Amino acid sequence: MNEQRKRILTGDRPTGKLHLGHYLGSLQTRINLQYEYDSYILIADVQALTTHWENEEILAENVVNIAADYLSAGLDPEACTIVIQSMLPEIHELATYFALYTSVNVLRHNPTIKTEALQHNFTDMTYGFLGYPVSQAADISIFKAHLVPVGEDQIPHIELARKLIRRFNELYKPVLVEPQAITSSVTRLVGLDGKNKMSKSLNNCIYLADDRAAVLSKVKSAVTDPARIRKNDPGHPEVCTVFAYHKILNPGELAEITAECQQGNIGCVQCKNNLAGKINLLLEPMHERRNKYKNPDLILDIIAEGTKKARKVAQETMEEVRSAMSINYFDIYKRQ
Ligand code: ATP
Ligand code: MG
Repeated sequence: MNEQRKRILTGDRPTGKLHLGHYLGSLQTRINLQYEYDSYILIADVQALTTHWENEEILAENVVNIAADYLSAGLDPEACTIVIQSMLPEIHELATYFALYTSVNVLRHNPTIKTEALQHNFTDMTYGFLGYPVSQAADISIFKAHLVPVGEDQIPHIELARKLIRRFNELYKPVLVEPQAITSSVTRLVGLDGKNKMSKSLNNCIYLADDRAAVLSKVKSAVTDPARIRKNDPGHPEVCTVFAYHKILNPGELAEITAECQQGNIGCVQCKNNLAGKINLLLEPMHERRNKYKNPDLILDIIAEGTKKARKVAQETMEEVRSAMSINYFDIYKRQ
């Protein structure tokens, strides 16, 4: 490992396949930065269980799916390290130490926790769910990551991580690194429902693995301007989900689409066909790369190797952490 280079840590919950929101919000940044930083990509299976503890059977399939999504989207296994969270017990150890001085009220007031608790109908939040941002702070600091590429919903968690790390460094010794969040220009891609963020749990996604036909049929189902009934009715692009996607994926034609829609010169079907074409263009190279990773054994080897390498880094960090906290008793006695 090159000690000169700064580190990136980021990851996803294996609760389903990756979607366009992941790609535009975080994955694309990771791909762009992978040769510049030492990049650790965490498949957060324990965090997935904070909302899916009764559906543990989803993990095995999704761990491989997500890794396949990473590799086909363009993460290079030679450049970045793909890691399984549950296989690094050091993360859970560090999370326990962070939890010692984390305020429960601060967690309760975290806006992302509040939104997600509502989404999952959690009236009585579990200790594990309420505390997942603490575990996430440990994910980041076990690798001493400098940068964390994330979408908007993660910003409060990175803020908390920075506070916990700063506090640790003040309380004990300055061994941990305060991370910075890095967001892309798409901090929150809206889902096909036009209301919520595109999210694996909400069934409103275009997946990176979707084929051309699936993309077209999903785009056709997207919510558009409700005031447009006939093709010639003047449209209101600012309230249309399809237009929101054009804005990101089709900037070259934006002015024309805006004018044509407002004047009622193009219908929603034509506009949707155009968008589906643009999305398929983006996904095409991913589908080609995906063919290389058809064999799950190949993916499992990459994850196993990544996890092994990451474990060494985690063990090094924990030695420093324990020593900073003076819980390295044998070393202390040896020195006397
Ligand atoms: P779940 O519904 O299981 O929580 P999710 O779709 O929210 O899944 P996560 O695994 O929680 O996905 O998020 C992984 C990363 O992708 C985070 O950095 C998150 O901010 C980013 N992300 C997820 N959805 C979007 C989106 N719609 N737009 C931009 N970024 C997103
Ligand atoms: Mg999420």
